[in-house]
Amino acid sequence: MAPQFEPTQVPETTDESDILREQLDYLIEHAASEAQCGCSECRRYLRVRAILLEIFGEPERGNLREMAPLPKAA
Ligand SMILES: [Zn+2]
Repeated sequence: MAPQFEPTQVPETTDESDILREQLDYLIEHAASEAQCGCSECRRYLRVRAILLEIFGEPERGNLREMAPLPKAA
């Protein structure tokens, strides 16, 4: 009855970006399936979403000029 749990699977080798993607997937799925039930997961989703979409919310301020090359006058 020994548990088959080897200490070789410590999350030390897990890439942090994998965790981020996993969390994001989870939150997106939750928000989609539960239709914003308002729980703490929903609030996490809204926070993350606000942060990730932040750059799209303010088109006048930052990087858009670099992305869209302006025609040079002379
Ligand atoms: Zn929820």
